[in-house]
Amino acid sequence: MPGFEFFGAEERKEVNDVLETGILMRYGFDGARKGIWKSKELEAAVCATFGCNYAQLVSSGTAALTTAMSALGIGYGDEIILPAFTFVASFEAVLSVGAVPVLVDVDDTLTLSPEAVRNAITPKTKCVMPVHMCGSMADMDALAAICKEHNLILLEDACQSIGATYKGKKVGTIGDAGTFSFDFVKTITCGEGGVIMTNREDVYTACDGYSDHGHDHKGGMDRGADLHPFIGYNFRISELHAAVGLAQIKKLDNFLSIQRNNNKILRTILSSIPEVTFRRVPDEAGDSCSFLSWFLPTEAITKAVVAELKAQGILAGNFYWFVNNWHYISKWDHLKNSVTLSHLHPDLKAAVMHHANKDFSASNAVMGRCISTAISLSWTEEQIKTKGEQMKSVISKILEEHQVTA
Ligand SMILES: *Cc1c(COP(=O)(O)O)cnc(C)c1O
Repeated sequence: MPGFEFFGAEERKEVNDVLETGILMRYGFDGARKGIWKSKELEAAVCATFGCNYAQLVSSGTAALTTAMSALGIGYGDEIILPAFTFVASFEAVLSVGAVPVLVDVDDTLTLSPEAVRNAITPKTKCVMPVHMCGSMADMDALAAICKEHNLILLEDACQSIGATYKGKKVGTIGDAGTFSFDFVKTITCGEGGVIMTNREDVYTACDGYSDHGHDHKGGMDRGADLHPFIGYNFRISELHAAVGLAQIKKLDNFLSIQRNNNKILRTILSSIPEVTFRRVPDEAGDSCSFLSWFLPTEAITKAVVAELKAQGILAGNFYWFVNNWHYISKWDHLKNSVTLSHLHPDLKAAVMHHANKDFSASNAVMGRCISTAISLSWTEEQIKTKGEQMKSVISKILEEHQVTA
């Protein structure tokens, strides 16, 4: 899964280019930088690799979401529909622009249930934000149709699915805007970083200014001569981080082909157990395969398998999101109690608590039975087979104990 596994001479070379000039900032210093513009180069590479008209690099995936939401004009009074299974960054970004995170159920795709989205629409709904979790993708045709029908913004959180496609299009480039994270554990990494992709010039121009204190970047060589048509923040990426990403993006095709190969070997082994089923993928051919997500028949069996994997010391790399502190509603007590350091408007606070404390039994029925296995790039075929057989024997043992084996 993570690009950090293949860190090497290419990354060092790109970083050294920057160190040679000492210009660590992405803007300005035109003479001193001697033609080295790593951030601009990486933005062009993102456009070419993923097939979008515009890309704006920022300091993190979270900053990318905040920037995209601001650029799309989302804020006070607006509701954003997002899934109850995601990384905390998704709702953090919604709160950062003063909007209401309307969490709804996921289905067996582990992403937004289109039906749950429909049921959550109110006159205040402004945006639907699918999160393409664990390397795969949401049902984009269904979600795009809902957005079109209700005139809503479609913003993709594609932070976990770099390189996945849906019906031939790269995820993150299908909606009004989409984001990737390049943090240390993502498919390609900058150390820290993120990007907003869009085909809309207005959205790109707003992202460009917002992520750099509102600079319009029209002052030429003199940054001080830039104007600020609106208030922004500093979510800039540094040239050192962009340099790492530039080396990594060139390796993406290789990462994806290794992931797909390794994923397939593991899947074949687990498929031999009839009780194991797999996550539904709206476009199978487009799965980036950074995870293999699988289901057991019941929550009790799943918990027993997790406990046994742990007891045998082979749990590493297997994620039981249902009880994970960072990825699922079950453990987000800070959100359920709306614990913030700065004061929220009382109406927003009440809305946050209302939506975080709804009934998520449909999601529980899916997530309670799901385990995701992270696919490593560095596994040998031998290691995958050993891992697969170990997992298989644990699963078989527990199934026997629960007497559901045919
Ligand atoms: C990693 C991630 C983010 C945020 O990325 P950072 O770069 O760590 O801020 C957002 N959404 C999802 C689904 C993620 O997995």
